[in-house]
Parts: sequence; C-alpha cells; structure tokens
Amino acid sequence: FLPHLVASLEQVDESYIMVKPDGVQRGFVGEIISRFERKGFKLKGLKLFQCSKELAEEHYKELKAKPFFPKLVDYITSGPVVCMAWEGVGVVASARKLIGSTDPLQAEPGTIRGDLAVQTGRNIIHGSDSPENGKREIALWFNDGELVEWNPAQAPWLRE
Ligand code: GDP
Ligand code: MG
Repeated sequence: FLPHLVASLEQVDESYIMVKPDGVQRGFVGEIISRFERKGFKLKGLKLFQCSKELAEEHYKELKAKPFFPKLVDYITSGPVVCMAWEGVGVVASARKLIGSTDPLQAEPGTIRGDLAVQTGRNIIHGSDSPENGKREIALWFNDGELVEWNPAQAPWLRE
C-alpha cells in the first residue's frame, strides 16, 4: 500500500471549459453547464464574454501554424462565449470524455459534440487538454476576483 501514489490519484485539477459562439447562438449554454453540474464537478468561475482577437490567438497559440488558424480565431471571436472554470479530481480527462472527439461526426453519441454538433469548425465547446493547460487557460480567461472558493453542500455525497 503506497499512500503517496493514492494521494497523486486524488489530485484535484481545474479545467477551462468554454461554450463557443455557435453553442451560445444555438441555445446550448444551460444544457452544457448542466452536464458538468450533473457529473458532480465544482463550478469556480462563470461569465458571458466577448473575446478579442488577441486573446483568441493567445489561447490557441499552439495551433498558430495550422492552415485553419485564421478561421479558428474568426470563429471564436464571432460572438459571445461562456467561460467556465470547473474543479475536481480528474476533471480534465473526464471533461474531454463528456465533450467527445474534436470532429463531432467521430464523437460518440451521448457526448456533447456527439449529440449536438456536426463539424470540427463548429464543435460548440472547448475543454483543456491537460491539467497544466487547465491552469494556464483559467488564468488567461479569468481575472483575479472572478474565481470563487466555496464548499458545495453535496461534497460528502460525491466522494467517500
Ligand atoms: P480540441 O482540443 O478537441 O478542441 O481540438 P484541437 O485542440 O485539436 O483544436 C482546437 C480547435 O480548433 C477545435 O476544437 C476546432 O474548433 C478547431 N479545429 C481543429 N482542427 C480543425 C480543422 O481541421 N478545421 C477547422 N476549421 N477547425 C479546426
Ligand atoms: Mg485542444
């Protein structure tokens, strides 16, 4: 029995989840928030926001060399987005599963993209791909004072 390994499996992560402009325009804000709430993660930050070109470019800087990068920046800045910070054990990996594959036609039914979208260029939601990027993206999209530390009443009913 190796308690230090158990402790690392219990690592609390943060994921930056964002309803993209198409998800907002199509009326999926409530449904998307609900899926993360129902799973049992903790919401730490939430806002409707019009993203600048500069912020979109910084957020997606790892994709700068891709041919679709200019279209991606236009897409993300084309209307308001809903920015969320979610916290929990394994939240980054779990959120990626809830969201589904980048190409919505490849995403499994039951996932957000699998149920609600048909094209990679209109895939309605973003989720961080690593705990490190979760922290980086939350710091990028939220100002100090926009994140709330609180203790959900359901906590003892979610984890033993
Ligand atoms: P994600 O982590 O599943 O969101 O996917 P990536 O990190 O690979 O790409 C980021 C985002 O860029 C995707 O969610 C899409 O919105 C967009 N994207 C990725 N690949 C393509 C593509 O081939 N064409 C277009 N138009 N957009 C793309
Ligand atoms: Mg990604």
